[in-house]
Amino acid sequence: MTTTLRDPDTFTSACPLDCPDACSLEVRVEEGRVVKVDGNRRNPLTDGYICSKVRHLPEHLYGPDRILHPARRVGPKGSGEFERISWDEALDLVAAKMREAKERHGGEAILPFFYGGSNGLLTQETTDARLFYRLGASRLARTVCAAPTGRAATGLYGKMAGVAFSDFPAAKLIVLWGANPSASGIHLVPIIQEAQRQGARLVVIDPRRINLAKKADLHLAPRPGTDLPLALAVIRWLFAEGKADLDFLGDHATGGDELKRRAEPWTFARASEVTGVLAADIERFAYLYAESSPAVVRCGWGLERNRNGGSAVAAVLALPAVGGKFGVRGGGYVLSNSGAFAFDRAGAAAEPEPRTRVINMNRLGEVLLERDDPPVTVLFSYNCNPLATMPNQEKVRRGLAREDLFTVAFDQVWTDTAMWADLVLPATHFLEHDEMSRGYGALVLQRSPAVATPAGEARSNVEVFAEIGRRLGLSRPGDPETADDLAAALLRRSERMRTELERDGIASPDCGPAPIQFGDSFPLTPDRKVHLVPEALDREAPYGLYAFQEDPGSERYPLALISPATSKTISSTFGQLLRRKTPLEIHPADAEGRGIASGDAVRVWNELGEVRVTVRLNPDLQAGVVLLPKGMWNRHTDSGNTGNALAPDTYTDLGQGACFNDARVEVEKL
Ligand code: SF4
Repeated sequence: MTTTLRDPDTFTSACPLDCPDACSLEVRVEEGRVVKVDGNRRNPLTDGYICSKVRHLPEHLYGPDRILHPARRVGPKGSGEFERISWDEALDLVAAKMREAKERHGGEAILPFFYGGSNGLLTQETTDARLFYRLGASRLARTVCAAPTGRAATGLYGKMAGVAFSDFPAAKLIVLWGANPSASGIHLVPIIQEAQRQGARLVVIDPRRINLAKKADLHLAPRPGTDLPLALAVIRWLFAEGKADLDFLGDHATGGDELKRRAEPWTFARASEVTGVLAADIERFAYLYAESSPAVVRCGWGLERNRNGGSAVAAVLALPAVGGKFGVRGGGYVLSNSGAFAFDRAGAAAEPEPRTRVINMNRLGEVLLERDDPPVTVLFSYNCNPLATMPNQEKVRRGLAREDLFTVAFDQVWTDTAMWADLVLPATHFLEHDEMSRGYGALVLQRSPAVATPAGEARSNVEVFAEIGRRLGLSRPGDPETADDLAAALLRRSERMRTELERDGIASPDCGPAPIQFGDSFPLTPDRKVHLVPEALDREAPYGLYAFQEDPGSERYPLALISPATSKTISSTFGQLLRRKTPLEIHPADAEGRGIASGDAVRVWNELGEVRVTVRLNPDLQAGVVLLPKGMWNRHTDSGNTGNALAPDTYTDLGQGACFNDARVEVEKL
């Protein structure tokens, strides 16, 4: 028997970044510094490898953009001129500004602004929530991503766990709809390839010919914002051709007849006219879907970011119910599995959520400039870079420029937002503090202890929010304040998960690692049925659920600007590591019609703003669509802003999500 000797400076960790895969990591540390990060096999999905984004983690941790100590603004707002101060001075300043805001305007004048950053379950919505709840601060609706998909999935299925990636090879048909695993969640790629080797067909639905589309049996490229009519046309055909599973609908669904009625107008011809997809291709897809079982739909988030996003996702998720695809391994759908875990978040916050006003993060610019009931006078931004990531970017910038606004940026690196802040605080990275994180694709929960020494004077969220609370006299005996206390509070409802985590560092949710939808996992609706036209969603959508809203394009702004994720960043995380400017991608026909050649400098504009970049011709885009990727920072264009300067701050039909892909623009050679 051979014994494997483990290096004492190699640790197991887990990736909490905003990615479905939740990789288990192997981290090599020398003298307190991380020198190498790779995958291991604790989470079987990781299979010993990780994406290149996280392999570059040491550059993020120790690069020139890392914030190493607290700093106070000394130059004009946005000038980037700061002076070093001590943590004591910084925390006193934050406490004083919060106290002043509360006394003058009430607690709602304080707005916490956060998303996910590299934070897991222990360092977000725990001690921070407690502080802001006790202050009576405004609450934040975190809707920039996944709000419409969440509303649709919960409305139809009440958080039913999805098909495990490991079960994809059992499928005869895989439909990738608005998801690009080559860029986000890479571990699905080899699984799909294996399924194809075993005979599965692959259909990719995406406005771009992404890598997997090149190897697919069918690629449908609907114009952005038209996934809804595409899905409804398939549903209509399934009913019309007698391919709908009426037995399943009778036993396990409500609203089947109403869905059929709402899909009725969407013939292949009409759907083709609106989506730009050939009617014959839609029919081929419908036929493939009807005839293949098991069939699994991997629904992503690309189709939600427009005015029809919620209804589109609902229609896509209705497909397996209408087509009778549930009840077998590898059959059904997967979207987000985050709802599969039962956490006691209220227990971790140790303070009831107050009924203070709710601010939608997608309208940050408007809120900073126009709300006066009361005005926001303290903006506390953490795990987030709103100046790069929120829609209507120039409005956000004007808001941050307000002289009477005190902005705190608590982050790991000097983000665009930090450059506009009044006070900057250095935050630890997940390898520098104790963390616990769950996957939203992989059905795993993992603990990851701190393995590296914090860079500079960086402190963890848990520590800093608890300390601000103490300075404001808001802490109480018994508040959970250590990682172990917080983990115990979060896991109070699941002794099994707590024991497994302690023993193995990894645990599955109660549905297990690979549930079968309508086999051993059922909708968490009150009657355990799928609700195909749920009343609440029908009331919420401005024209009713499944009602299509026309394209916002015009003669003046005819091009649809999309901003998909890339393999370089996770949202805007790691943006500082991209040294090159980002080009606008445009179809050769659109470029030619405007006298534009590859490498030309152009301006891209609409009524919200203008972005100056160079051009890259991309024949894999469909004509009429241009692309500036998600995750860019202001430094990545010649005009010092990003594609979000052109994105409207309108809402999706469900969940008040962001409509990034409703940006319509014109492009002109400079
Ligand atoms: S970002 Fe995703 S693929 Fe990359 S290491 Fe983290 S979980 Fe794995």
